[in-house]
Amino acid sequence: MKVVYSDGYFLKLGDHVFPAVKYLRVKDRLLEEKILSPSDLVAPDPATDEDVLLVHTHSYVNKLKTGSFSHIEAMRLEVPYSRELVDAFYLGAGGSILAGRLALEERAAVNLGGGFHHAYPEHGEGFCLVHDVAVAVRRLQKDRKIVRAMVVDCDVHQGNGTAAIFRRDPDVFTLSIHQASNYPAWKPPSDLDINLEDGAGDAEYLDRLGKGLFASLEKFTPEILFYLAGADPYAGDQLGGLSLTVEGLLRRDRLVLSAACERQIPVCITLAGGYAVNVEDTVTIHANTVRVMKELLGSSRT
Ligand SMILES: [Zn+2]
Repeated sequence: MKVVYSDGYFLKLGDHVFPAVKYLRVKDRLLEEKILSPSDLVAPDPATDEDVLLVHTHSYVNKLKTGSFSHIEAMRLEVPYSRELVDAFYLGAGGSILAGRLALEERAAVNLGGGFHHAYPEHGEGFCLVHDVAVAVRRLQKDRKIVRAMVVDCDVHQGNGTAAIFRRDPDVFTLSIHQASNYPAWKPPSDLDINLEDGAGDAEYLDRLGKGLFASLEKFTPEILFYLAGADPYAGDQLGGLSLTVEGLLRRDRLVLSAACERQIPVCITLAGGYAVNVEDTVTIHANTVRVMKELLGSSRT
C-alpha cells in the first residue's frame, strides 16, 4: 500500500495545540513497527493554483498568496499566517490528490496529512486553510477518473467546510459523525450528520456510525471513499469531548474500512485532527488506522 508523505507537512506554528510534529512521528512509527517499508512512501507535489481554484475562490486564493486577510479573517484561521504555512497546505492538498489517484489504482492509499475539513471556498478557519479532500475530489472528477465520491468524516468536529462545498452536489455524499456541542458553532448540513452527546463512548459511537454508514452505502454508490480518520474523538483529547478508547478508535477504522473493502470501493485515508495530551497517543491512533487498512488489503488478497 502506498502512503503519501512529505517532511513539508510540518506546520510551523510555534507553541500551538496543533501537534505539527505528528506527521513525522506517524511516519516514523509506521516504519519502526514495520507496518510500512521506506519503499511504500511516496512524496507529493504541491497542488497547483488551478487545483485549489477547483474549490476555492480567486479572492481567497489571492489572500492566501499575499496574506491580505482582515483582522477577523486572520483570527478565524486560528493559526499564524505565513507563506510557508500556505505552502504546507498546498503540499497537503497535492498529497490528497496523489493518494486519491493511488487509491483508484491500488484499492487503497493514505495521505499521512490532510483532512482539513473546516476550509470553505471563500475562507479558512479552524486550522484549515485549503480543503485538501475537496480539491482531490474535484481534481479526480476533472480528470474523469471518478464521478461519485463519498466523504466519511470521523473527526470529532463536524465537517462544516465539506458540507458547505458539496451541499448542492448530488455526486458527492458527505457523512460526518461528531460531538454536537463542539466547534464549529454553525454546522451546515451534511448529507448525513450523526450528532453525538458529550461523553459518548465506544459502544454508542460504533453503533451509530455503523447504522449511518451502512444506510448511506445502501442508497449511494461511490467510486471512491475519502475517510477522515480524525484521532480527536479519543477520551484523552484536549479539543474533543467524546470518550472513545484507542481500541474503540481501531474498531471504528475497521468498521469504515471493511465496509468499503467489502463493497470494492477504493479508499483514500487522510488523518485530520488529533490533540491528545500525550502526542504519542495521537500517533498510535493514526498508526493503527494505517495498520488496519494494510491488514484488510492483505486478508482480502488471500
Ligand atoms: Zn477535529
